[in-house]
Amino acid sequence: MTLSAYETTSYFVDRGLEALKLDQRYRTLLLTAAREVRVELPILLDDGSLANFIGYRVQHDNSRGPFKGGLRFHPSVEIDEVRSLASLMTWKTAVVGVPFGGAKGGIQCDPEKLSPRELQRLTRRFVDAIGTVIGPHVDIPAPDVNTNAQVMSWIFDQYSRRFGFAPAVVTGKPLSLHGSAGRDAATGRGCLITMRQVLAADGKKLAGQRFAIQGFGNVGSWLARLLVSEGARVVAVSDVKGGIFAGDGIDVLALRRHVEQTRSVVGFEGAHALTNDELLGVECDVLVPAALGHVIDQTTARNIQAHYVLEGANSPCTMEGDAVLSDRGIVCVPDILANAGGVTVSYFEWTQNIQQHAWSEAQVNDELERHMVAAHAEVERTRREYRCSLRTAAFIVGIRRVKEATDARGFD
Ligand code: NAD
Repeated sequence: MTLSAYETTSYFVDRGLEALKLDQRYRTLLLTAAREVRVELPILLDDGSLANFIGYRVQHDNSRGPFKGGLRFHPSVEIDEVRSLASLMTWKTAVVGVPFGGAKGGIQCDPEKLSPRELQRLTRRFVDAIGTVIGPHVDIPAPDVNTNAQVMSWIFDQYSRRFGFAPAVVTGKPLSLHGSAGRDAATGRGCLITMRQVLAADGKKLAGQRFAIQGFGNVGSWLARLLVSEGARVVAVSDVKGGIFAGDGIDVLALRRHVEQTRSVVGFEGAHALTNDELLGVECDVLVPAALGHVIDQTTARNIQAHYVLEGANSPCTMEGDAVLSDRGIVCVPDILANAGGVTVSYFEWTQNIQQHAWSEAQVNDELERHMVAAHAEVERTRREYRCSLRTAAFIVGIRRVKEATDARGFD
């Protein structure tokens, strides 16, 4: 039985609900999205022709604070997946204890095929279409796959033209336009801190561990760089075009220069070529899916040789893949804990925008460390209490906090 993206997320939520023995009313309340918006986005292309795109924003839950979540520009964006990712954001913001709810959005498009001017027109058109349902105290978008600080700047500018100066409407902006120090590296840094804590709970250290990373974008490339600075080895890396392997460890800084020049990790000197499927089965200590979802399924999970899977990406495991990992005793560090560093520093950026007072990078990193260490400690404590996986423990922590906020607001 293959579950859809949303069914998979709901399955994991259900396991948390069952462990907490919550009655059926909460299931309906906590699984259903508060609002789902689908918009048509016609734009003129540079050659004068008209193209039509479809955009989505799903706002899942805002009992703990304004909706919060990334925007993805990708051909595979569709409502079921956006709904799943919005739900994950609700639990993630709760696990890491930042005062937001969960949302997600995106545009079904291939940014590789659009010029910068077309991409800008499409982004501005999207902001016009969803402008009335986002806002600094309503819903705050952020970067995700194929969106970056430039896209966030256009969102800030377009929103401000209509509603007035509002840097807190979006996070992940550049430093030159009300962004936060440390935001670019935040998700990778959060992954690093979480993995360090998971290893420490098992009496191990980061230094000397061998990592294989799928995806060399924002999350994967920052994590790789930070790992090397901690004395770990990155033995394999891949992107959409293919992968590379070097058993003695890859020179990550040289690889970043290679990617800047060639736009891919493929062809990096001193490493063997490998496919994305082969990367998942590489001999290593920690496997990090940091690209798209559902890559660890029943088949690929059987070939994994790592002792740990660190979910840099959202939803990299299917239900069956997750079950195979548990049966094989491979510890999976779930997305709603592992990659929560991004939304945590997005919260700091939002706070700075509202305070109109910039923090230093050291302050951002210290606060990130504090949030991630506390989140891991609570999930680990819950895992021991309920004798469950780290994933179920993380959902228990998230659901409990959302339920408490929902109860405190009351029903009428
Ligand atoms: P990105 O666009 O910066 O990079 C994505 C990387 O994945 C690129 O290297 C791309 O080539 C690679 N990729 C794309 N399709 C692939 C495929 N089929 N096989 C192998 N590699 C492929 O995106 P990102 O921001 O690094 O996000 C990566 C993942 O992390 C996503 O699942 C995203 O939801 C999640 N995430 C991102 C953030 C953030 O702050 N950016 C925060 C939390 C979670």
